[in-house]
Amino acid sequence: MTHVCYCVTKHSAPLERIECATPQPKGAEVLLRVTAAGVCHSDIHIWEGVYDLGSGDKLTLKDRGITLPLTMGHEIAGEVVSTGPDATRMRAGMACIVFPWLGCGECPTCQRGEENLCPIKARSIGVFLPGGYAQYVLVPNERYCLDLGTLNAAEAAPLACSGVTTYSALNKFGSKIKYEPVVIIGAGGLGHMAINVLRAMSGKGAILVDTDAKKREAALANGAIAAIDAGAANAVQEIVRLTTGGAACVLDLVGTTSTINLAMASVKKGGEIVVVGLYGGELKHPLVHFPLRAMAVRGSYVGSLPELSELVALAQEGKLEPIKVTRRKLNEAYASLMDLKAGNVIGRLVLIP
Ligand SMILES: [Zn+2]
Ligand SMILES: [Zn+2]
Repeated sequence: MTHVCYCVTKHSAPLERIECATPQPKGAEVLLRVTAAGVCHSDIHIWEGVYDLGSGDKLTLKDRGITLPLTMGHEIAGEVVSTGPDATRMRAGMACIVFPWLGCGECPTCQRGEENLCPIKARSIGVFLPGGYAQYVLVPNERYCLDLGTLNAAEAAPLACSGVTTYSALNKFGSKIKYEPVVIIGAGGLGHMAINVLRAMSGKGAILVDTDAKKREAALANGAIAAIDAGAANAVQEIVRLTTGGAACVLDLVGTTSTINLAMASVKKGGEIVVVGLYGGELKHPLVHFPLRAMAVRGSYVGSLPELSELVALAQEGKLEPIKVTRRKLNEAYASLMDLKAGNVIGRLVLIP
């Protein structure tokens, strides 16, 4: 038996339609028929094959151990077709959302539930293992399948990446989000998800920062307290005016030299910056500011399985509004990726095989 996959066979070249062998699940593996696969911004980096480290330096995907051909797609919802003999919970016909950020499963990091940060072996679905731009996908263990419940597959699929990424990043600010607005740089798909997730977490509110007027308007329509033009000369003053003497929490969903500099100029004493965006660039900043301003800059990479479970529970309780999704056919995978790359997308594109 074979099924259709859309694969990266060469970096920065159109995705190729390939007939792949459909695997038979072994052990506690689960074979899913893909019902929805989100098209994520990080798929563009994987497709291009490089990250920009600034000053002309690049990190290639080959350095990260990613090999071609690769079926991308890490925001997956699906229906169980069959399971291996050791699976006890999942049964044919069940609908689920997949946790894709797998590690070795055995090291101390994985044992404490942070497989997404495993230093031994990254096995992320759609990055290292075949992903959801396909009719079928194999999940290495049933414990990575979370019941969909009443959730819609296309609306829930993005929770596996943009959802859990923003949830995990906002979690790092701790209780600060209940008292102070979070400044969110970048009002694209991730920015909209962040507004919704922050609301579901009972946060005080979001101040969006973006250069694109249309995206700022959409952020306001989605309930942002304010939207600031990142390109305006007074952007920092505006952030300080709208917060109490400067931002306590800045979530940088873009991750360029200019956005991190804007973030560092906007935080007040004790302020925290969490960087999620992967556009690339570098940071040069006086070290004395770290102690004198008690400032923190840290990164956040996707999220953990427990965090995705918590987020799916918030969605099932009706606390998390679904983001706007646009459904596309599987054979539009490459066109969808190009639309996202061109910056023409508000909300999320989801492939429906
Ligand atoms: Zn993603
Ligand atoms: Zn591990």
